[in-house]
Parts: sequence; structure tokens; C-alpha cells
Amino acid sequence: MLKDSLMEEHIPARAGHFDVIVAGAGPAGLGAALAAAQQGARTLLLEAKASMGGVAYAALWMPFNRIQLRNGSRGGVHGQMVARLTSYGSVACRPGKRNMIDGDNLDIHPEYLKLAAFELLEEAGCMYLVHSPVTGVTMEGPDLKGVIANYKGETHTFTADAFVDATGDGDLAFQAGAPMAKGREEDGFLMRISLVFALANVDEERFFSYWEQDNGTQLKRVIAQAEQEGYCTSWYVFDRTTLPRVISVNNGGPLQLGNLDGTRAQHISAAERGGLQVALDFVKIAREKSIPGLEECFLMRTGASAAVRETRRIVGEYVLTEEDAREGKEFPDTIARKYGGFDSNYFHGPMDKGYCNYPYRALLPQQVEHLLVAGRCGSATHLGHAAGKSMGNMMALGQAAGIAAAICAAEGLAPRALDASRVQAQLRTMGVEL
Ligand SMILES: Cc1cc2nc3c(=O)[nH]c(=O)nc-3n(C[C@H](O)[C@H](O)[C@H](O)COP(=O)(O)OP(=O)(O)OC[C@H]3O[C@@H](n4cnc5c(N)ncnc54)[C@H](O)[C@@H]3O)c2cc1C
Repeated sequence: MLKDSLMEEHIPARAGHFDVIVAGAGPAGLGAALAAAQQGARTLLLEAKASMGGVAYAALWMPFNRIQLRNGSRGGVHGQMVARLTSYGSVACRPGKRNMIDGDNLDIHPEYLKLAAFELLEEAGCMYLVHSPVTGVTMEGPDLKGVIANYKGETHTFTADAFVDATGDGDLAFQAGAPMAKGREEDGFLMRISLVFALANVDEERFFSYWEQDNGTQLKRVIAQAEQEGYCTSWYVFDRTTLPRVISVNNGGPLQLGNLDGTRAQHISAAERGGLQVALDFVKIAREKSIPGLEECFLMRTGASAAVRETRRIVGEYVLTEEDAREGKEFPDTIARKYGGFDSNYFHGPMDKGYCNYPYRALLPQQVEHLLVAGRCGSATHLGHAAGKSMGNMMALGQAAGIAAAICAAEGLAPRALDASRVQAQLRTMGVEL
């Protein structure tokens, strides 16, 4: 329900001081803002784009993996999000496909995802601004004191006692001078940037039986032929959606443009342009080559923006490695589990336990105080991050960061001085398995 008091209660008009500021409203930022606000912290969520959800809304109907667990709810913000989405009915979400990487998921209509995010934030008493990228920070020595948010020259400096950087690109940590890493260690390769698209008027049964019968081998042959004919091609992964006869097409973006970096304006512009070509050419290929089930398909739309898988990561107090993830290393300060498998564009494989543990120290950047960093810009190697990088897991990292930020703000503590067992205890009371 939309209240008359919406702006007064939730959308600030001018700069001010908050207990907790969260930058970025992707899965990690939503988890952080909801958790902090529910702990009673006066919380502001700043989002650069038009709406909440991050990649989950930008990339259309992708399965929100690990938002629940096979044995039921993940507790905490995950449970709330699933309950809200399912309360809207089948127009909003449906269970998605299952394999080693994907699983325990929902295919979510992006508009209902946005609605659920707004509603839950408002119910938690959270303030928010969209279209408000954080473009700068204010520091006193190593202490992060404020963030500068911009909308069309309307510049506000918001201050807080604790901050969560959930921008995906580590924008706050980077601007505050924290040490950062980027891409694959050996060659700087980044996971692909992709403009996901949706196709309408698809005969789903025929298409999925064609695609699944030989693991896509026939389709790959068709695409290779089309590439030789000059079409802009990529790799593709297909998902059903909440709409009949509509499928979503995850893909590798314009492969011929090489290693694109989502923190560079030139590269992200090229990814948007090339991504559009990938989408439009796929429709032409599908129709001209009569791909079964797609002969009469239309491009319904591309995502709200190109979606970025990987850019900067902090080099934190602990860096989660491939080995940690593979063996499911136990940490005394585990604050989240990342379920699934390794999911880099360059390597896929299982984790021994089907999950890895994420230590509190990996939320803490070096050299900057009062800041926690959650989500894909958290402290991990390329493969340490790729291990369970799905949205539900990023939300779990955000949730832990939000709880920590709220405790720190309430007690005047620096996140580095916080005993992680306090975060663990709170998570357990919320039904989170650690
Ligand atoms: C193409 C693609 C397909 C994927 N497929 C799946 C899938 O099928 N299932 C799955 O579970 N996962 C999938 N993933 C992985 C998953 O989406 C990401 O790992 C996850 O979204 C990361 O969450 P995040 O919150 O850390 O970052 P993001 O989702 O990237 O969110 C970051 C948010 O911060 C905002 N932001 C950025 N800079 C600023 C700033 N300076 N100030 C304020 N706000 C800012 C952004 O606009 C965005 O809303 C996919 C990823 C991509 C890119």
C-alpha cells in the first residue's frame, strides 16, 4: 500500500546523519539495509539506479538462487523476502531450475521483486533514495565519516556511525583508499558483463526439449554457423519465467569485445552496445535458422542495464580463497554460508560440502574504519568469490554486515573491534544456519 506519508517517513529531502548508511541496493545491500533497520538502526539505503534489486532486477527473471534452502527457509531476510513474494501469488514468482550451481531458487518477476524490496524496507522503517549514486566520501584520517550522493547537481553529504559498501564495485572502499583487487589473479580477466534479454512467443516445451536433449550441442552448432555469417554471438543460458511463452536469456555478452571492466565508462558503454547486438542478432538467428520453439519469437525487452558479474574486491582482513571454499574450511567467525558450486565464467565445479563458510573478517577492509563491505566486492580471490556467488548468498553476506553495522552504531564500536560472536548470536536468533 502506498502511504501519503511516504516521503516524510522514507525518502529524505536533504542531507543528515544516520546510524547506518548502506550504499547499493542489490541482494547484498537489501540484506544489509533490512537487517540494520530491523535491529533498530536509523538506516539510509542509497542506490545509483532506478530501483532496488541490483543484478536481480537489471537482468530480468534470472533465478534468484539460494534464496531458500532445500530443508526450508534460510531464516532472516531471506525468509521475509520469500514470504512476501509468494504472498503475491504465481504472478510474482515460481520455483526455478535446479543443478549444482542453480538451486533453492525462485524465478521472480522483476517488478514484483522491486515491490517486495520497497515494501519490506518501508516496513522495517528504512529510509532510501534511488537515482543517488555515491560519488565521493568524507574522511577524518582512516575514519569514514560521510558519503556524497548526487542527483543532477543536487549534492548531499550523508554522515553515519557505520557504513556498508554493497555497491558490487566497492565504490566506497575504493574512494576511501582501501586496498583492492580486480579480476582473475593470473591475468586480470573479469567475468563477463551481460545484457540479459527476454524472448516472447516461445514454444517453451519444444525449445527446452531441443536445448536440453544434448546439452545444447545442436544449438552451439547453429550459433557457430551464424557467427561465421557475421552475426554477433555469445554463449547462452535459458530460463523459464513467470510469464507464459516468455523465456529469459542469460549470456556472455559481446565476446569479440574482449575483457570488459564494469568500472570503466568506455567498457560499460561497449557492453551495453554490444549486448543489444547480441540480443537482436539472437532473435534473427532463431527465426532464420528455425531453432525449434523459437521460430516465431520476438525480443520482448533487454534488461534495465548491462549486468556486471565482477569488478573490484577489497583485500580485507581475511581473503577467502579457492581452497577455503573447496574444502568448506571452518572459521571461528563464520557469519554466512555460501551454497552452490564454483561459478566463474572460466571454471565451474562443486564445493566438497556443497557450501563454504564466510568469515566476518572478510567484510572488513584494510586501512579504513567504520566500513563493512558485503557482496561481490567482499574480500575473496576470483574463485573464492565465484564459489557460491549467487544472489541468495550475497544477500546473506549483506545481512551479516547490516547486523554488525547496527551493533557498531548503537555501541560506538569500530567494526574491527566487534566480536563476531555477537553477529553470529543475532543471526541464529533469526533462524540462520551457520
Ligand atoms: C549476467 C548475470 C547473470 C547472473 N545469473 C545469476 C543467476 O541466474 N542466479 C543468481 O543467483 N545469481 C546470478 N548472478 C550473480 C548475482 O547476480 C550477483 O553475484 C549478485 O547480484 C551480486 O550481488 P551484489 O548485491 O553484491 O551486487 P549487485 O547485484 O551488482 O548490486 C550492486 C548494487 O549497487 C548499486 N551501485 C553501484 N554503484 C553504486 C554507487 N556508487 N552508489 C550507490 N549504488 C551503487 C548498483 O546499481 C546495484 O543496484 C548473475 C550475475 C550476472 C551479472
